[in-house]
Amino acid sequence: MAEDAAGYLRPVQTGTVSTEQDALIAATCPGLTQEVDGAGRTDHALWGPFVDMHSGHALDDDLRFAGASGGALSGLAAWLIRSGEVQAVVQIKADPDNPVGNVATISRTRDEVLGAAGSRYAPAAPLSILPDLPDDLQRLAFIGKPCDAAALRAMCARDPELARRFPVILSFFCAGTPSLAGARAVLAALNTAPEQARAFRYRGNGWPGLATVTRADGSTESMSYHDSWGKILSKHVQHRCKICADGTGAAADIVCADAWESDADGYPLFDEAEGCSLIVARTQQGAALLDRAARDGAITLGPFDVPQLTAIQPGQRNRRRALAARLAALRLIGKPVPRYRGLRLLAAARQARPGFLLRNFLGTLRRGLRK
Ligand SMILES: Cc1cc2nc3c(=O)[nH]c(=O)nc-3n(C[C@H](O)[C@H](O)[C@H](O)COP(=O)(O)OP(=O)(O)OC[C@H]3O[C@@H](n4cnc5c(N)ncnc54)[C@H](O)[C@@H]3O)c2cc1C
Repeated sequence: MAEDAAGYLRPVQTGTVSTEQDALIAATCPGLTQEVDGAGRTDHALWGPFVDMHSGHALDDDLRFAGASGGALSGLAAWLIRSGEVQAVVQIKADPDNPVGNVATISRTRDEVLGAAGSRYAPAAPLSILPDLPDDLQRLAFIGKPCDAAALRAMCARDPELARRFPVILSFFCAGTPSLAGARAVLAALNTAPEQARAFRYRGNGWPGLATVTRADGSTESMSYHDSWGKILSKHVQHRCKICADGTGAAADIVCADAWESDADGYPLFDEAEGCSLIVARTQQGAALLDRAARDGAITLGPFDVPQLTAIQPGQRNRRRALAARLAALRLIGKPVPRYRGLRLLAAARQARPGFLLRNFLGTLRRGLRK
């Protein structure tokens, strides 16, 4: 995977692709296709299949503080290792050679999980580490974006050995990946040249926490989540993410998200608070793991009112409701669209007003014809 001219990570062909490999890519690449089977679970038109939803946070204070919301993902990851459920966790962390970028990593300890905590709003390819997994690691958990989780699940469905190696898949709600150009724009707004940056956090260390650069001379500068995500990074989200049907991690066992009370645009109604995550068990196995993690004192699990999600997550809600109209516009002008099965896009569209659907149809048509 390498950065392209626009600042997104793209696969670079380095050798011959066999017919079998090509077929595997076509069947599992989440950019091309995604299939969800919600049978036996509550299958919500906006939020996908789930068993239970909770609010909660890591009980390890450092993980809670460093985490993007309540550190629930990191709390679970650390517990999975400590309890022996898995030997290690495949996830991403800041790239030591490019503090705004990301690298895939294998965390074997709670401290390594702590070092990777927090959301990183830049391209990341956690699955790129699969060919390099050491032989001694045969039981792993995986943390990635919904598309990463979908790709791994689809590969596991075709490869029982891989499925045995990854018994747990964790994910989070995702509004889309901004480019590294977006990250550099945040640095510029923080009066920092890329070569001056020694470390960079997109958020976390509080809830929502600040985007903070630490320069080589030790000085720091920060901006709010509203300014970094809202005014800069969200403008750099790639086209593919705008036609994503799965911003909520339908393929994962457990998914976390922000569980804040929000304004109409989805921003929290407070400056800073103690972190709290929405924690969704998507599979029975995920529900059982959450139960054990809570009983072992790794996370808290409280009630969560599912209808409330529609107000808390306006970005996810609107994209899901708009998607059938956006895809129809792209099809009409012969642009490629992903193949989605079981994602209930028509049911989601039926929740929207005709004017909203028409605006999305025409807006996508206009942008599609222009580019
Ligand atoms: C690009 C992006 C968009 C998001 N959009 C939304 C949204 O629309 N709504 C919402 O509620 N939440 C969104 N989130 C998720 C949210 O910021 C938190 O991740 C979520 O609340 C879980 O918090 P936590 O404290 O439990 O996670 P933490 O304990 O902080 O753990 C976060 C985990 O995610 C991994 N991670 C961080 N960034 C990436 C990345 N780019 N790719 C792969 N893995 C990564 C880390 O390695 C770590 O394991 C988004 C996150 C990202 C990265």
